Amino acid sequence: MSSDQDPNVMIGLKNVLSKIEAAVARRNANLPQIAPRLVAVSKIKPAALIVEAYEHGQRDFGENYVNELAEKASDPLILEKCKDIKWHFIGHLQTNKINKLLGSPNLYIVETVHSEKLADNLNKQWPKYRKSDEKLPVMVQINTSAEEAKNGIEPSETTKVVEYVLKNCPNLDFKGLMTIGQYDYDVSQGPNPDFLTLVKCRQEVCENLNLDINNVELSMGMSTDYEHAIELGATTVRVGSVIFGARPPKAN
Ligand SMILES: *Cc1c(COP(=O)(O)O)cnc(C)c1O
Repeated sequence: MSSDQDPNVMIGLKNVLSKIEAAVARRNANLPQIAPRLVAVSKIKPAALIVEAYEHGQRDFGENYVNELAEKASDPLILEKCKDIKWHFIGHLQTNKINKLLGSPNLYIVETVHSEKLADNLNKQWPKYRKSDEKLPVMVQINTSAEEAKNGIEPSETTKVVEYVLKNCPNLDFKGLMTIGQYDYDVSQGPNPDFLTLVKCRQEVCENLNLDINNVELSMGMSTDYEHAIELGATTVRVGSVIFGARPPKAN
């Protein structure tokens, strides 16, 4: 594993990609056969490491603070060397930061829509920032672990909120569901209940709203459990420390 002093991004990336491939081979055949997307979570890490990962083929990057995403997305080095970079916002989005986020170059998706109000705001603001008439891709964040401190809607609200986005937010492109879930779940106890809940939310929302399950992504799984998440159906995994090196404690 790479350390903070001597990160070897290329090796980290290769390892993760080959483990993703192996996990895909173990995936249940009943699941949509979607090639999972790796989002490299670069929070706290400098632009130079992002460029390094980009030069080894990585295109999707994730940040969980608006200021940090905005700063990195506008970094001259990144703008010059990472022309096709795709930024995923994966943190808690406050209303007063929406404009800053939407104005960030190469913003690709907001994975953390946690209320109808936030969807409304994004829908209203996006036309000011988009090029041509492209919609803003979004995922709806579900609080699968019922923890007070976690953001996201209740699993039972999934259909209502997704329907709201589909019917009332013509500038948003609903892409799927996202969860963070509880940290340090012990897989020896069986499949991670957060991941099972997200899979079930997708099942229900697709039935209720007549959506094609192949078009509804699941963003779940981080450094410690992305392989497990893929086996259970993740189509997007968000992996940071095993690519870029450990972060200082509490710097999440
Ligand atoms: C930090 C973060 C990750 C990646 O965490 P690692 O343990 O470093 O892989 C994934 N998702 C979210 C929402 C995060 O904030």
